[in-house]
Amino acid sequence: MKETLTHEFENAWEALDESSKKACMAFSEAYKTFLNDGKTERESAREIVKRAENKGYKPLSDYLSGKEKAVAGAKIYVVNRDKSVVLFLLGSKPVKTGLHIVGSHIDVPRLDLKPYPLYEDEGLAFLKTHYYGGIKKYQWTATPLALHGVVFKKDGTRADVIIGESDEDPVFAITDLLPHLAKDQNAKKLAEGIEGEMLNVLIGHMPAEGPKDKKDKVKALVMKNLNEKYGISEADFLTAEFEIVPAGKARDLGLDRSMISAYGHDDRVCSYTGLEAMLSLEAVEVTACGMFMDKEEVGSNGNTGSHSRFFENMVAELIALQEGQYSDLDLRRALSATKVLSGDVGAAYDPNFGSAYDKRNSAQIGRGVQLVKYTGSRGKYDCNDANAEFLNEVRNVFDASGVVWQIGELGKVDQGGGGTIAYILANANAEVVDCGVPVLSMHAPYEIVSKVDVYMTYLAYRAFLNR
Ligand code: MN
Ligand code: MN
Repeated sequence: MKETLTHEFENAWEALDESSKKACMAFSEAYKTFLNDGKTERESAREIVKRAENKGYKPLSDYLSGKEKAVAGAKIYVVNRDKSVVLFLLGSKPVKTGLHIVGSHIDVPRLDLKPYPLYEDEGLAFLKTHYYGGIKKYQWTATPLALHGVVFKKDGTRADVIIGESDEDPVFAITDLLPHLAKDQNAKKLAEGIEGEMLNVLIGHMPAEGPKDKKDKVKALVMKNLNEKYGISEADFLTAEFEIVPAGKARDLGLDRSMISAYGHDDRVCSYTGLEAMLSLEAVEVTACGMFMDKEEVGSNGNTGSHSRFFENMVAELIALQEGQYSDLDLRRALSATKVLSGDVGAAYDPNFGSAYDKRNSAQIGRGVQLVKYTGSRGKYDCNDANAEFLNEVRNVFDASGVVWQIGELGKVDQGGGGTIAYILANANAEVVDCGVPVLSMHAPYEIVSKVDVYMTYLAYRAFLNR
């Protein structure tokens, strides 16, 4: 590599030779399949487990029961309540000496159904929603939507629901006001043009059979359809989990097919690259770990989020397995010696909204994986600020493996900001830095990534876990 006194970031496409360009494009095809196979945290968790099992990963319970041995090279997965997953590849060094982790999240901003969602108004049946995570509400109107969810019926049986994804399925929609009548709406602030209680999903309008004066016949037919297909009644909604997501598949974007348009790159892109990095490894010195967490978009709270003791408990289980006994001090030492890439997407510089960014310190799509020293906002509030020593270590790992990387802050200092799971593991005294894929239109129903950044992120995670 050329040494110079000044630095300019490289275009990652130009760093690829023909064979790595092919590998990059093939990687993106597999990524699109992953995106299409799982749109909710439960579906993504299931897909992660499926792929891990295909590579020889076994559930932790097999190790706890003695069926499998927790020796170097052992591949272990743990699922927490169907919504988060952790993979471990045991190293030649014991777990108590620390881990190398790539941590990401599999929940995505969306519209959740309220517990009592179904109603009829003027011959139209709607579902009431409560949005999940940071969305721009107007983006969810007048676009095809799908319903995903899980219902546990009173008799204990479970029904998994997906409507709106296959070509024959119907889709749903949230209506918007025609421009001809939108004088008042257009005068409102963008954030107020569509309000939370207006995000009602149109789900039907044909009346069920019955006397002309009978009320709510449209709602009755919706319930009849759902009951015929899934065996559920309105009361089952009260305890179910339903999510409304954009309908449709991930698509190539651009004549050059250099980008991918899809729902939920944030953060299935870092999840997939982290997963593939884990699954590419067979033997490591330091135990490698992939975390695929839930609830990041709403603050990482709850038992499936990163604040949960779940992850710590699993490391404790591994230490107990390897040492024959559990010591709290071993656990604390392990976490203190742990190094983490917090895999989350970054805000890519968008020239159409240039005034929101500090261009010099923003990531750009096509310049490779993005390192973010700190997130937080308005004076670095609430951030994890990665240590220079660790950043330099990561830089050297990336450079030694031919990873094209860049740095990026989340927009202008006073403009806003955000956080991710980095600070949570850092609070357990691990070394952590944010590292992921820059995204255009983040949190929109369809987000955009560059295929070369996805590929570089995979190479970066693999190099970090495999040293
Ligand atoms: Mn994210
Ligand atoms: Mn996000």
